[in-house]
Amino acid sequence: MWEKPEPRAAIISDLEKALAQDHHFSDGHVISSMCTSPLDIAREAHAMFIESNLGNAGLYPGTLSLEKQVIEAMAVLLGGKHVAGGIVSGGTEANITALWIARNIAKKKKVIFSRSAHFSFHKACDILAMEPVVVGLDEKYTINVDEVSRKVDRDTAAVVGVAGSTELGAVDDIRALSEAIPDGVFLHVDAAFGGFVLPFLRGMGSRIPDFDFSVQGVSSIAADPHKMGMSTVPSGALLVREREWFRTIHKDAPYLDTLGQLSALSGTRCSAAVAATYAAMRSLGREGYARIVGDCMRVTHHALAKARKLGIEPVIEPVMNILCLRVQDPRAVQKELDAKGWKVSVAQNPPSLRLVIMPHVTVESVDSLFADLEGVIGVKR
Ligand code: PLP
Repeated sequence: MWEKPEPRAAIISDLEKALAQDHHFSDGHVISSMCTSPLDIAREAHAMFIESNLGNAGLYPGTLSLEKQVIEAMAVLLGGKHVAGGIVSGGTEANITALWIARNIAKKKKVIFSRSAHFSFHKACDILAMEPVVVGLDEKYTINVDEVSRKVDRDTAAVVGVAGSTELGAVDDIRALSEAIPDGVFLHVDAAFGGFVLPFLRGMGSRIPDFDFSVQGVSSIAADPHKMGMSTVPSGALLVREREWFRTIHKDAPYLDTLGQLSALSGTRCSAAVAATYAAMRSLGREGYARIVGDCMRVTHHALAKARKLGIEPVIEPVMNILCLRVQDPRAVQKELDAKGWKVSVAQNPPSLRLVIMPHVTVESVDSLFADLEGVIGVKR
């Protein structure tokens, strides 16, 4: 701990040095992150509500009303009208909370998810002492529904479907999943990445299968405003079909003004993100998101065309703005691109070079990445 107060200028100068070491989306070289530069109005809203804490909601009725409006807007976006929910710190917290609710409703331990599900489900099982049952994928790299129907049994509390997988952006057949499992088994959909993409792709004529509350069997959905929602970090959302279900995880907090408070995993909550999400959603509207998603898909297809010119095929035709490329020794390629200043990632299932084409990734940065990739692959062949 620092002993004496230090001057502002010295502190700010050191903060600036640290910031300069970080990678920034505006550089156009980060093609691995599922987050992006938040909208200016989201940054402004975040700063305005920096003191808000919905962990003590009675003190923040204004922020609480913003959260209510955000959840209502997200519910409509995701095919549900009267669903309940709240803003949490991200996809991980939303997924853990969903399984917490599922376990408490069912009083059972098994949870079925696929190899493509986010690692937060393993965290959830660890924390909640649940038993993970990991199933395989079909030829489209989506959950093997037949295997789910074989493995679901009387000890199953929940099944997880993914609408926009972390590695490939693949969308599980949520309707088939819901039909394959008995009534009473909680069906959670992880749309942390897809929640702010898939509804807009649909509007553009893409054949996106139903993945949201329009499927009767869907119990809850995670969707992150801090990914394609253009809001600030940390902003995730959990939507749950029945408000009552939140009671199963409720704990009394007699020392707090918790009127209307969401039963959440976090105590203190960064509620500036609520205001930022409200601002982002209102300022973009459906039209604004559709434009952003459309732009990301155009850049993704531009990248795909570039890859094919180099003789590289994708693992799947991109469904969303993620492109995984079948290159030899993806780790080595990633390392060489890293040496040239590029931040790209690697997928495991199957091993491939993974590009996440977020709104900060432009045609120009893709062109310059592929110029370097050509050199790297050329050396490899
Ligand atoms: N679910 C999916 C599908 C994801 O892609 C991610 C993160 O990439 C998460 C959950 C976890 O989200 P967070 O990092 O916001 O906790």
